[in-house]
Amino acid sequence: MSAISPLSQATILGYPRIGRRRELKRAIESFWKGNTTEAELQATARELRATTRARLVELGLPTVGSAIPESFSFYDQVLDATLALGAIPGRFASVTGSDLDIYFSLARGNDQLQPLEMTKWFDTNYHYSVPEIDENTGLKANPAQLVAQVTEAREQGIESRPVIVGPVTYLLLAKASDDAGEGFAPIDRLDDVVAVYAELLGALAAAGAGWVQLDEPALVSDSLSVPRAETLALVERAYAVLGAATNRPQILLTAPYGDSSQALERLGKLPVEAVQADLVRGSLPTAALASGDLAAAFTGTQLVAGVVDGRNIWRTDLRRAFSQAEQLQTAGISTVIGTSNSLQHVPHDVADEQQLSAQLKGWLAFADQKVGQVATLARGLVEGAAAIETELADTDAALADRAQAAGVRVDGIRSRVAATGQPERDRVTEQERRDAQADLGIPQLATTTIGSFPQTTEIRKARAAFTRGEIDQAQYDGFLREEIERVIRLQEEIGLDVLVHGEAERNDMVQYFAELLDGFAVTENGWVQSYGTRATRPSILWGDVSRPAPMTVAWSAFAQSLTERPVKGMLTGPVTILAWSFVRDDQPLEDTANQVALALRDEIDDLVSAGIKIVQVDEPALRELLPLDADRQAAYLDWSVGSFRLATGGAGADVQIHTHLCYSEFGEIIDAVDGLDADVTSIEAARSRMDVVVPLGDHGYSRGIGPGVYDIHSPRVPSTEEQAELIRIAAASIPGQQLWVNPDCGLKTRGYDETIASLTNLVRAAREVREAA
Ligand code: GLN
Ligand code: ZN
Repeated sequence: MSAISPLSQATILGYPRIGRRRELKRAIESFWKGNTTEAELQATARELRATTRARLVELGLPTVGSAIPESFSFYDQVLDATLALGAIPGRFASVTGSDLDIYFSLARGNDQLQPLEMTKWFDTNYHYSVPEIDENTGLKANPAQLVAQVTEAREQGIESRPVIVGPVTYLLLAKASDDAGEGFAPIDRLDDVVAVYAELLGALAAAGAGWVQLDEPALVSDSLSVPRAETLALVERAYAVLGAATNRPQILLTAPYGDSSQALERLGKLPVEAVQADLVRGSLPTAALASGDLAAAFTGTQLVAGVVDGRNIWRTDLRRAFSQAEQLQTAGISTVIGTSNSLQHVPHDVADEQQLSAQLKGWLAFADQKVGQVATLARGLVEGAAAIETELADTDAALADRAQAAGVRVDGIRSRVAATGQPERDRVTEQERRDAQADLGIPQLATTTIGSFPQTTEIRKARAAFTRGEIDQAQYDGFLREEIERVIRLQEEIGLDVLVHGEAERNDMVQYFAELLDGFAVTENGWVQSYGTRATRPSILWGDVSRPAPMTVAWSAFAQSLTERPVKGMLTGPVTILAWSFVRDDQPLEDTANQVALALRDEIDDLVSAGIKIVQVDEPALRELLPLDADRQAAYLDWSVGSFRLATGGAGADVQIHTHLCYSEFGEIIDAVDGLDADVTSIEAARSRMDVVVPLGDHGYSRGIGPGVYDIHSPRVPSTEEQAELIRIAAASIPGQQLWVNPDCGLKTRGYDETIASLTNLVRAAREVREAA
């Protein structure tokens, strides 16, 4: 190990990497198009990394003590680890070219090869590329990128800290490749993988890195293939080996995204030099702290107190954060101020927002502000609380201003939520609803879509022109009406049974509603990476939520006026609206969800008054918000299902409520899905060839169900026979009168040619199976 030099007292676990104006996105996409060379892309990336380091120094992180993390990524941090380990799946053996060519092939696939699967990173809306491991996956340390960054930083006069997803988390997030033998699990290769990590550490030490950060969020999750206690044992096994390596940087082991308090003492005893704990989602082990056991475990080990929230955009309660850190320091633990997790989940800088009110801006902290807070708190630890009293007092004032500001607490909204109970969440029995809905005349194996039709260049252009003021409201509305009419006629021609208006007016399924509801604000530059080069701009839910006016009624009613067939009203559910926004942290999520639910309830009322008979309330994020901590899951499912039912519970028996969930792995939450009490639920199923229907059948699911028969994630057109086959598979587990026929998800990312061909085949397939019955 290199000479002991402690970790700086201020650090962050990671920083946004797409660039303040999404420079990296543009650079990468231009490289993909062949407009720039790899050398040019590498130069842009280097420049972005240098700017980031300089900015972090400017914001108060020291140039020494490895305070600055090398959290840059061309696409994804798990994919970075795959490359660093040389764990290229066998099916990519034919891919040649530079490391970066191979990297992007894994991320994006090519004509012959499907890309690595993407899935959500813990309970965030960030997606990582899933490693594929089997008994024979080759492993070979490839430290080039990591080493290059350390060297680059040193040339800039900065001692930086490379960051790698840790070995246990890496393998627990991997899946067994198709070539793996039965019973094989990627974690079986822990010892092999740890040996490669040891080599990577050796290379980093040789390059002069004083510290390395290994992220092990698996430590806080109950949703992985092994129980949490076993994960801890695996971490102990892996780090005993890494810690014993003679030639390595000092190790910072992190446990972001949740509560590690139960594991913290044992982590402190590992042969690593620093351990991070998320003290926003998690807590301090109070008993071990009071007894001195925690301090004993941390003898010679620094504790990075993750007191600044990396998941949200609110200004930190500095006084509270400081007292948490002070408690540790007072207990004799060498304490470092840090963030709860990487700041990759928050936008860059509040100062980049011109449209937000000055008052709201005073309550916010994006990545740059959070780095400043970390630096302030660290100064307090070193110099004493008095040295940062001005900053503490400023925060107090901002928090007090927020607590009493107009709109944050609105009595009328609160009393309305308080007055609701179970009756508002219960509809009449399923049978009564089926009878009342018979008039809809919906056939067996009814065909429909999930809501959106392709968002064409023309739609985007019209929206941009309207935003810039080049066309007025009347012109824009006229354009949207024509679009809706076209989509309705198209669906009639194709022969779908239940139609949609196509969602052309929506920029995004959450932001559209956020812009129309009170209690929300939207940002101009608040981009957050969702995956690869994709970023979203979550809205900010800051106050009590209410609906000043109907939001979707005019569009849905117009669409319905054009056709005899039923048109589905289309809303985004309360849980999804929360999941894909930055939500206030000053009250339970449940209270906020219920406010959103009441706004949606009123919208459904108005849709029905306008002649709409079927309303779909999408909840694609229901699974995503499931807490990592098993102890918290039941309470979550209870309030999330409750808020959906509050939104939909006012619909009369003759109104058919649909919902849509975007994923196929919902074994874990099947009771909750049933509990939504929707008349019809559409789900993703095509890629897993209807795997979901068996558990649903076993569960005795009695309501309508639409397992997707058309994988909308690629431009490929599924044939009639292929879709008919999937319908038949579903019909083997689910009675025909319950089955609906639909694609996996919305069509907004597809083009019209493939959409028309695929939906035509879908309708034919449904007819074929119907007639054979
Ligand atoms: N109704 C939405 C659409 O079709 C649903 C999108 C989603 O599930 N993410 O686009
Ligand atoms: Zn979906």
